[in-house]
Amino acid sequence: MARVRAGAKIAGVDREQLREIFGWLLPGQSLVTSDPLHGNARFSTRDFNQLDFITSPLCDQCGLPFDRMEDEGQICGACSADPPLWQRARAPFAYDDISSSLILALKRGGQRNGLSVFAHHMMDAGRELIDTCDVLIPVPVHYRRLAGRGFNQAGWLADAVSRLSGAPVQHGYLKRVKASPSQGRFSARQRRQNVAGAFALTRRGRERLADLRVVIIDDVYTTGSTLNACARAIQKARPANIDVVTLARVVAPRNPLI
Ligand SMILES: [Zn+2]
Repeated sequence: MARVRAGAKIAGVDREQLREIFGWLLPGQSLVTSDPLHGNARFSTRDFNQLDFITSPLCDQCGLPFDRMEDEGQICGACSADPPLWQRARAPFAYDDISSSLILALKRGGQRNGLSVFAHHMMDAGRELIDTCDVLIPVPVHYRRLAGRGFNQAGWLADAVSRLSGAPVQHGYLKRVKASPSQGRFSARQRRQNVAGAFALTRRGRERLADLRVVIIDDVYTTGSTLNACARAIQKARPANIDVVTLARVVAPRNPLI
């Protein structure tokens, strides 16, 4: 079967729209359990009840949940020892088996049907950050990976959050200049080395981000090394502020498989 190039159009409909159209024609199936569902639903109530929502109290900077809060605005040991380059990060879901199934369905399966639900939860967790931002910037993928996969799941999430919040999204301000290998089995240190220098602003990004409040959007916050590498590149344009909103966040010391 002929492949549709990324960005190519068939009868005026681009690849993303085609995915959406065919997604809705398929019978409902849970993205978590693969069980059949009514209509074109992708989650059951049981799936949602199994999700681990991150709730306060949190580290004011990286959003890591605390058992209890001593002081307002408290930050965790990791943030005080090695402060991230962005100000605050928030995520609705803890990264676990359930949320990872949703993210893998999005990232590897190109399943778009959960996007509006994901965006609602990202808005709930990061409302304060998103409501006051000037621009959403998705973590970009290298053009070779984009050509192979055909989409960037962080870009989809940013578009969905933009539709809900009205905050503009810019896909062309930040680019991935180094095709780093997948970080699945890497330690925190290897992750940092793997993404060092992997991102750069485009000319438009350099020219237009000065004094703006930026929110970086990604699917998972693991060690924060990718987000830090993005923030390092964005800082060159001297924005007013950089925050981060992701769909899930690793809260336990484990190596995610994505
Ligand atoms: Zn922290």
